Parts: sequence; structure tokens; C-alpha cells
Amino acid sequence: MYELKNHTEDVVQHVLKEYMQKFKLPCDCERCQADIKALTLNQLPSRYCVSLRGEILTHLELDSLPDKTRVLSAIVLAAKQVADTPSH
Ligand SMILES: [Zn+2]
Repeated sequence: MYELKNHTEDVVQHVLKEYMQKFKLPCDCERCQADIKALTLNQLPSRYCVSLRGEILTHLELDSLPDKTRVLSAIVLAAKQVADTPSH
């Protein structure tokens, strides 16, 4: 079964995980993480590709992405915004 996948979403998920290991978020509950992801994805262009259902990118593929730095700076902004005005 094939599905459309937003590649940017995978990258954001991966970079956010790394970010959270390095910097402590004021709140790292599921809601705040989802808010940060949504805000980050809204800043970035989506890149859809066709993938097999359930297929995930390897760390090697993710680490070689050219726009990782761009994703990280979007996450920094989003994390700050959520920390300033959390949804709960
Ligand atoms: Zn929270």
C-alpha cells in the first residue's frame, strides 16, 4: 500500500527529538510537542513523496539532509513561542 508522505514532517520529528535532548523545554508534554511541531511545519515548505506504508527514514538519510539547519532554526522559534504562550 502506497501513501503520500510529507518528508518535512519526518525531518521535524527527528530534529525536535535531538533538540529536546540538548535543551530542556519548559514543558515537554504531548500537547506542547504537538504545538511546536505544528508551528514548525507551518514555517517550512512541505515536501511530499510517495512511500510504502510504515516506511521510515534511516538516521543516515535524515542527517544528510541539507535543510536540517533551517528546520532547527524553525524549531527554536516555535519552541520559544510555545514556551511564551503554552496552550494549557
Ligand atoms: Zn505542555
